[in-house]
Amino acid sequence: MARQYETVIGLEVHVELATETKIFCGCSTRFGGAPNTHTCPVCTGMPGALPVLNKQVVEYAVAIGLAANCEITRMCKFDRKNYFYPDNPQNYQISQLYLPIARDGYVEIECGDTKKKIRIHEMHMEEDAGKLVHDEWDDTSIVDFNRSGVPLVEIVSEPDMRSADEVLAYLEKLRMIIRYLGASDCKLQEGSMRADVNLSVREMGSREVGTRTEMKNLNSFKAISRAIEGERQRQIELIEGGKAVRQETRRWDDNKEYSYAMRSKEDARDYRYFPEPDLVPIVIDDAWIEKIKERQPEFQDAKLIRYRREYGIPEYDAQIITSSRHMAELFEKASDVCKKPKKVSNWLMVETLRLLKEHGMEPEELRFSPENLAKLVELSEAGSINSSVAKEVFEKMFSEDIDPERYVEEHGLKTVNDEGELNEVIKKVIDSNTQAVSDYQGGKEKALGVLVGQTMKAMKGKADPRRVNQRLKELLS
Ligand SMILES: [Zn+2]
Repeated sequence: MARQYETVIGLEVHVELATETKIFCGCSTRFGGAPNTHTCPVCTGMPGALPVLNKQVVEYAVAIGLAANCEITRMCKFDRKNYFYPDNPQNYQISQLYLPIARDGYVEIECGDTKKKIRIHEMHMEEDAGKLVHDEWDDTSIVDFNRSGVPLVEIVSEPDMRSADEVLAYLEKLRMIIRYLGASDCKLQEGSMRADVNLSVREMGSREVGTRTEMKNLNSFKAISRAIEGERQRQIELIEGGKAVRQETRRWDDNKEYSYAMRSKEDARDYRYFPEPDLVPIVIDDAWIEKIKERQPEFQDAKLIRYRREYGIPEYDAQIITSSRHMAELFEKASDVCKKPKKVSNWLMVETLRLLKEHGMEPEELRFSPENLAKLVELSEAGSINSSVAKEVFEKMFSEDIDPERYVEEHGLKTVNDEGELNEVIKKVIDSNTQAVSDYQGGKEKALGVLVGQTMKAMKGKADPRRVNQRLKELLS
């Protein structure tokens, strides 16, 4: 029988924090911008420039640490990590090694039907590097320091994951927590969330950990999944062929679906870490932690329990809606206004998700207000507009946050509830569709659809199709 292998995976996740300014200077953190325009002597590593810590960075880091069940380090320090690279103008990075801001936490993930805790070894604060832009045409590289000094937290897990699915569940959970906190937008494509995957394989049942490699350059969930499968296969083939896996950093090429060795993996001692002499230690007292705790939002788990009690919507819907804080707040506010949580949930679950997918948007980017969603539910429930008009109004609301009441009024979309007018139209339709009428009366149920369609057309869509159906049946019986 072929030998069975187990994959052992740990993750280092870098998250760019959503502060207005950089970690040690007042430059803007905004993504993009002309190269080297968000820079100053501090973040371009000029001699003599001194860093000043941005307090908001510490608050976000503590908030994330608390949400991930970590111990917060009451006195933490920064350290210098020394290395040369062209995107790193100081020739060192200010990071944390000896006293990181948070330690010993966990997040709970759900994979299939099983729940599992992924332990967090530690979390530290550090500054981001600049960006090298390689111009292959000119065979040159240029450097943009706009990103240099953007605050990061690095979240280091224990090697507790065993499959790509668990890795993705863990990343999704982290991303959800951090987005709930508003601490980052966590966009893998834009690099505000980046994951390095440490992976080794071992024979099933073995307690020993194999030699691991680290994979970088993974900028989508799909790439992460493929890289894990590719690297697992590569290591198994080496072992089966009697060769050793080398401890190294590898770069994943998603187009070729293969990873390439970049360099042998460094140890902490290679970086000659030492305490950062230009920054004082940070003392985090109980009062500060309490203040941050008080500001923590209600997270998904708590919301799910409350939703069961207060709104009575299906569990599946509640899961999806609460996976985004913004969508959850839309749902809660709209439901409070119109008192019809099931209807609100339907709009979010069907039309909203459909349009989000169609536009390639995230729920955080939804721009319509809960008040307008509540108005649409009310219009539709009162029978003032029929379902196809409601969908049309919703699309308008989705893209421009229009006021549904005003929009329906201005565009004359209200359902005509004038029985006299409806009767007249129906009679005309009956008179001019003799074939369909005799078909229906001869027992062809389907023919009624033709008559309903004709009536709706004559009413320019502003009739309630159920009412039309009923009235036609009455008149033809
Ligand atoms: Zn700066």
